[in-house]
Amino acid sequence: MQNEKAGLYIHIPFCQSKCAYCNFYSIKSVNLIPQFVAALIKEIKLYQRQFDAFDTIYIGGGTPSLLSYGQLAEIIAAINKFLKIDGKAEVTLEVNPGDVSIEYFKALRSLGINRLNIGVQSFDNRLLKFLGRRHNAAQARQSIGDARKAGFNNLGIDLIYGIYGQSINLWKKTLAEAIYFRPEHLSCYQLTLETSTPLYKKYREKKIEEPSENRQRKYFFTTAEELEKANYIYYEISNFARGNNFKSKHNMKYWSHTPYLGLGPAAHSFWENRRWWNTASVKTYLVKIEQGKTPVESEEILSAGQLKLEALFLALRTKDGIDLKLYQKRYGSNLLKDKKEVIESLTENKLLEIKNGHLRPTLAGMAVADSLALI
Ligand code: SF4
Repeated sequence: MQNEKAGLYIHIPFCQSKCAYCNFYSIKSVNLIPQFVAALIKEIKLYQRQFDAFDTIYIGGGTPSLLSYGQLAEIIAAINKFLKIDGKAEVTLEVNPGDVSIEYFKALRSLGINRLNIGVQSFDNRLLKFLGRRHNAAQARQSIGDARKAGFNNLGIDLIYGIYGQSINLWKKTLAEAIYFRPEHLSCYQLTLETSTPLYKKYREKKIEEPSENRQRKYFFTTAEELEKANYIYYEISNFARGNNFKSKHNMKYWSHTPYLGLGPAAHSFWENRRWWNTASVKTYLVKIEQGKTPVESEEILSAGQLKLEALFLALRTKDGIDLKLYQKRYGSNLLKDKKEVIESLTENKLLEIKNGHLRPTLAGMAVADSLALI
């Protein structure tokens, strides 16, 4: 496993305003961006010669598109100077519609960014407002068009379903519009009401409801059906690609225990059996880096049993499931023998299937992937 190239994640912890559903780490003090960029470059340098090579870079957040061309250029120059990057690396930037222009997109391409992930979320203005997004549907459409005109041929769109007030038909309309743009990648996330968010507060005050289980299933199956009809490959519980080449190579590392290095506040890293994470505070991050210290807050060492369970949990969220031979080689477990009864029962119930040496979830299994992982 450790011969595989690692992924590099950069967390840009700034947002101009906070969306009503979001619990990712970000702050609104955009005046700190220049100081942050300088610190990030120092953090990149700390990892000089520690990783062999990276073949994916994912700049996420937060809102990375708040950074100017010059700031992104500085970060990418530091990455190329201090870390070894594969010549054919997948380099993704998350983009917020409304912050961007054709000129900005063209500039991104000149930096070697070859994949965009646009946070569209919905093409319905009422729902965008409900979610507390800063952009509107017209800006989302414009951003997709501009990205294409600037020459991006690997485009991902993020959408959210299960929003209070979103009928199944409205969701279908959003999917149809997304399909119309033929993005190479689509992520469709079910809205979760995270405690500590304004939406959760509304839910607690009984101003909004969560979709029933039955309704959640409807959203789920509608999504799979509509996108498979449009020839997208359903390859992970929330992710669809217009061909194998367009699966997110970076995210696949998270699901297959491939090493990754996360830089910036709150970013997580993984190597062999060790996971570590940075402080989730921009202020502490800046101070530590200024003092020449690492901003790592803590770490955990995973036991063989934990690694085995986690690999199962992650793989059963993907369409390809678990490569049984590889699993045995890596984790020393003959899954079909060790979990015989439960696997037999789940296959009888058509939630799992064994195909081409893989134990994989069926579509019905994907709908309940979290409980499958408990095998
Ligand atoms: S833009 Fe993204 S990271 Fe920022 S608040 Fe909204 S959902 Fe969260």
